[in-house]
Amino acid sequence: MDLPPYTNDDRVRIALSKQLQQLSEALRLAVTAEESDDSSAPEGLMARLRAMLISDIPTLEETVVGYARHRGDTWHEITDLTGVDAEEAQRRWAGAQVSMPADPEQETLALDSWYTMHAQMEPLGRVRDPFSRLLSGREPAGKQCLICAKYDGRPVPPWAGWANPPGGHVIDDEHWRVGHGPTPYWPAGTLIIESRRHFVDYADLNAQEAAAIGPLIQRLTDPLKEATGAPRIHVFSCMEGTEHFHVWLVPRRGEVSMGRTFIGNPGYCSPVEAEDVIVRLREALQKSEEPR
Ligand SMILES: [Zn+2]
Repeated sequence: MDLPPYTNDDRVRIALSKQLQQLSEALRLAVTAEESDDSSAPEGLMARLRAMLISDIPTLEETVVGYARHRGDTWHEITDLTGVDAEEAQRRWAGAQVSMPADPEQETLALDSWYTMHAQMEPLGRVRDPFSRLLSGREPAGKQCLICAKYDGRPVPPWAGWANPPGGHVIDDEHWRVGHGPTPYWPAGTLIIESRRHFVDYADLNAQEAAAIGPLIQRLTDPLKEATGAPRIHVFSCMEGTEHFHVWLVPRRGEVSMGRTFIGNPGYCSPVEAEDVIVRLREALQKSEEPR
């Protein structure tokens, strides 16, 4: 992928964001941590909060000062930021360093995915350009066709999926690509059927595509049920995330809410879970196509 190089500003921003992510996760877990009489129990609420106050918060403060210094803030501006007088601030943080990410691309992908996963509770419009939009040289995703862009090797937001989906494309023929949906945005077993040609709607299908799309969905539905154990496969298209023809096949698992409630917040999965389903789907497809 031909991305602009990561600047030093980007690296510092990634390092700060990584710490915010870790702290955010720690706070999230603390919400459900049990009260314990034994304050030394590492999983107890008090122990968790104390660990954050003693080590995580001061580390974050140091990173914030290092970040501000990197951006050129004077010690007087650090005083405005922290309320600590300039002399004391220098004494405390003169050596404040931001530990730079070793692999900024991997860190950016991980932050994008983490942000997208949690952004499912927000309106989609808020996550159009997730974390990597904060890096210099990255253009907002804007109105480009994200499906064409990802197959051209251009960067796309994590909710648009990847040119090499987990487990590879299950079907890749003259009209369609079928692969696992983006894992930060969909549960395990979600498939996305994408047209090879760029067009938007069912109205734009040519005669061959129109003849092929029904049998394709028919061919995938039972094997997908078998591979996921889902009693229903929800099939829908809205062409809103990007204006390129695509159809979602989303297995609705037994234990989750049904119908519109499910589609509004279907959950997510790990790439490993997605790969496992794709292995089972390939087996089920092969079995369904053996002559009886
Ligand atoms: Zn397109």
